[in-house]
Amino acid sequence: MAQMVECPFCHYSYDPGEIIGGKCLDCMEQERQMQARSEHAFKVMTSPFYQMDFMEALNESK
Ligand SMILES: [Zn+2]
Repeated sequence: MAQMVECPFCHYSYDPGEIIGGKCLDCMEQERQMQARSEHAFKVMTSPFYQMDFMEALNESK
């Protein structure tokens, strides 16, 4: 049985091949989504259609 590696972020145990750059694929995906969201938030705040985009962002987060 392969030795499992614990992800320091979610504390689940993973196969060493699933831990990349010190975190598991799930946490990497989560970070990627958070980054995409903050980029979206930045675009919303700098957009002349702020209100419209803001409502759209709210709907997306549900
Ligand atoms: Zn993780």
